[in-house]
Amino acid sequence: DSLPLDEVKDNFVRTVKRCIFSQCQPTPLKGAVHLAAISKDVLEDILDLDESVMHSKDFVQFLSGARLFPGSIPLAHRYGGHQFGHWAGQLGDGRAHLLGEYTNRKGERWELQLKGSGKTPYSRSGDGRAVLRSSVREFLCSEAMHFLNVPTSRALSLVVSEEAVWRDRIYNGSVKRERGAVVLRLAPSWFRIGSLEILAKAGELDVLRTLLNFVIEQHFAVIKPSDPNKYVAFFSVVVNETAHMIAKWMSVGFAHGVCNTDNFSLLSITIDYGPFGFMETYNPNFVPNSSDDEGRYSIGAQANVGLFNLQKLLEALHPVLSSDQREQAEQILREYPQIYRRRFHELFKGKLGLLGDEDDDVYLIAFLLKLMEDSGADFTMTFRQLSEVTLLQLQNSSITQAMWALWDLSSHEHFWDWVSLYLQRLRSQSGDSDEYRQCRMRAANPWYVLRNWMAESAIRKAENNDFSEVELLQQILTKPFVKQEQAESAGYASRPPAWASELSVSCSS
Ligand code: AMP
Ligand code: MG
Ligand code: MG
Repeated sequence: DSLPLDEVKDNFVRTVKRCIFSQCQPTPLKGAVHLAAISKDVLEDILDLDESVMHSKDFVQFLSGARLFPGSIPLAHRYGGHQFGHWAGQLGDGRAHLLGEYTNRKGERWELQLKGSGKTPYSRSGDGRAVLRSSVREFLCSEAMHFLNVPTSRALSLVVSEEAVWRDRIYNGSVKRERGAVVLRLAPSWFRIGSLEILAKAGELDVLRTLLNFVIEQHFAVIKPSDPNKYVAFFSVVVNETAHMIAKWMSVGFAHGVCNTDNFSLLSITIDYGPFGFMETYNPNFVPNSSDDEGRYSIGAQANVGLFNLQKLLEALHPVLSSDQREQAEQILREYPQIYRRRFHELFKGKLGLLGDEDDDVYLIAFLLKLMEDSGADFTMTFRQLSEVTLLQLQNSSITQAMWALWDLSSHEHFWDWVSLYLQRLRSQSGDSDEYRQCRMRAANPWYVLRNWMAESAIRKAENNDFSEVELLQQILTKPFVKQEQAESAGYASRPPAWASELSVSCSS
């Protein structure tokens, strides 16, 4: 009953022409701010800093947007995008500020961006803020994905505040007051498919060429800037790498949730973590986003959605391609399903410890996935427990209840048929041993992924200023392939608690 009116002032939201960025300042969070979590890996390995900076009083100010790094000119990026299949016009960084680029000791360039740092010319009706719960999720998941070997943006820090942020989440009949938070996130580049689309749609072809040339020169070292076919070469790399990224998502059971073209990076890294989810029981129709009524972005639809998004990228490139080059690009796109399938196949072969290539491997993989789908076995733990079990145990049918995912799977009438094919396949591998197989599989199949209930448990505590589980998860998820005592006692590799199945995540963030 006391919702603050939206502070709409002047003509803040504008349709910007002929530009890629707008200069604008972050708006500091109101009230006390607190550094709730930090990635030491980003701090040390990307930013060349050591932990002592955390003791500096100013540090949190830099991480929240209250102070700027020397020389920083904060920018909000103008982009557009196709949202749920439809052209949405100008979107842009509505709550993010690009602070600048850092070149580290290793010579890598990283763009530092604040998310949740206030209004920009692209905020439209939004408040420029991000709530604590979605910031915890982005912070934890982007780091977790990196350690799962999935191409992704990174996150340095999570700063929380007392600033009230209002979202349409109903709790006990009233709208819940939430708290604002800021994540400092990093990527080699934050450009998206939508970055190019808006320029093509607006007919700003000189700006489109400028941006394309910049992206190619900065991030596609294999392409010569003087190559007359460079835009086709660029498209080819994006097609390949996008297929690769989505196959990687599938290999860890990750559903992004909002695969709009504005959330698809030109560098094919996972960006813009929102209502994502890791699949628990295997189900190709798994939809992590409760607002996605039609299941457009179900986990099993992601490969096709990737194709749709690449089609939109190609449309954006059309004005700078000759008719001959368009045909080449279309041919490249026709190869996408094949590229994706090959990559998916390689990754799942790795998950099963298969060496070499046999005709029946596709069948063996599909058979297992079907058993998982029918039995509702846990995706992550089925693969991990297959990595732990010995072939002798499998041969003797000695699956215990402690191997809970395999136990569920073994309730399927065809499970033992699959096992006998699997054993036959593994035993035909020359130069292999059971120890070596386990070793390979343990490096491919994690114990721990950021399940929804794990994030939710950490968020509930964080909302009461207890960030211990955020920290615990962050630490554990830096070594997802290694069994860790604290993770075991927290139940992170156990059967999910009953309340996990009732959780839902919406677009509200
Ligand atoms: P997302 O679904 O988070 O990828 O956001 C889609 C678009 O909405 C992007 O242009 C965002 O910048 C913008 N947006 C989302 N939330 C807000 C907000 N609270 N304030 C301003 N813009 C927002
Ligand atoms: Mg750059
Ligand atoms: Mg986005």
